[in-house]
Amino acid sequence: MNQPTLRKDFPLINRLPLVYLDNAATAHKPQAMIDALQHFYADSYGTVHRGLYALGEQATSSYEQARATVAQFINAATEEIIFTKGTTESINLVAAAWALYHLKAGDEILLTEVEHHANLLPWQWVAEQTGAQLVFIPLDGKNYVLQNPAAYVSSKTKLVAVTLSSNVLGPVWAAGDLAVLTQRAHEVGAVVLFDAAQVVSHAPIDVRSLKADFVVFSGHKLFGPTGSGVLYASRSVQGAMHPYQRGGSMVYEAWFDHAIWQDGPQKFEAGTPLIAEAIGLAASVAYLQKNIDWDLLHKHEAALCRELIKGLKTMPRVTIVGNRERLATEGHLVSFVVQGIHAHDIAGMLSNKGIAVRAGHLCAQPLVRALGHESLVRVSVALYNTTAEIELFLRELENTIALFNQLVEQS
Ligand code: PLP
Repeated sequence: MNQPTLRKDFPLINRLPLVYLDNAATAHKPQAMIDALQHFYADSYGTVHRGLYALGEQATSSYEQARATVAQFINAATEEIIFTKGTTESINLVAAAWALYHLKAGDEILLTEVEHHANLLPWQWVAEQTGAQLVFIPLDGKNYVLQNPAAYVSSKTKLVAVTLSSNVLGPVWAAGDLAVLTQRAHEVGAVVLFDAAQVVSHAPIDVRSLKADFVVFSGHKLFGPTGSGVLYASRSVQGAMHPYQRGGSMVYEAWFDHAIWQDGPQKFEAGTPLIAEAIGLAASVAYLQKNIDWDLLHKHEAALCRELIKGLKTMPRVTIVGNRERLATEGHLVSFVVQGIHAHDIAGMLSNKGIAVRAGHLCAQPLVRALGHESLVRVSVALYNTTAEIELFLRELENTIALFNQLVEQS
């Protein structure tokens, strides 16, 4: 992996005088992915699974090849990959197509206190609909680690739906705890869903070793197009799922009064699917497979986090929200607050200097509130970010705080 060369592959990152540090929200696109979209629309456009003509057959073949590429990327079988428009839709699909049919009053859905709204609100809805209860694995807010997760699995647990890495805090699982939690969940017959949205562009995912029933992630965070996402659903759990939407392309037979669903991913991809998005996502996966050494990437991103933490620690009114030691060795993001200055003001002032960071409750409002904050600033890195960018960010943050202080003194 040659990081300076890779950076050149991302046209917008190179073109704008911009320091882009909001990769946990969405990542920029390599030319190879943009070319794949251009090629599909300009040279080989057609719809899938129906056109008995060359363009239709070509589109079907590219779409199904995209499924195979994504499957291989996460060590799944091809028919275990369902294309969605993102993590949010993948989780809502599981909620509507699996959970609504299998949960009832008295059952428990086990989540953690660090979930993104995408892995909280759908389960609140399922709880309302079925009478099931939400149970939360608590966060130790001092060490930023989820406490004794397997202890929260009981005979009532029917679903464990947890994030692999927090979009606010980064790493939150103690070594080995996730495997024990999964094993315990399966012992009581519960189904396990992992939200891999914050992992997939930073570390390899292997659904077999994770032993999950469902794994979800978004393509746009993986350098792919918006509107692309993945739901891995194991062969065994697919048998217990009902269609998510009903319409074209997902039946063997339809009659005036009933229909017989297809098996496999088609059952969950009603209507004209996200064809270009899947092809673009496969191109970004192929780009990563060709160019990325995950160990080197991990070291590169952790080194950037170390620089960040080192700089932030010298700033008197800045408090890092997250486990500094772990972020410095395995992080890809760092969240913080500046006492006396609202996170939105920090982000706005940095934006005037061409620096993009995220500020707010980061779509994890219950967590941010529980940590005693209303709003955080989050800096998140990807493969194309450099030490020089982190240094610039730190300088401009210091200037921003100084300027704000001056304004307050003058007023
Ligand atoms: N889960 C986590 C951990 C996330 O970080 C995000 C997005 O930031 C999501 C879910 C939702 O992803 P999307 O908005 O792409 O559906």
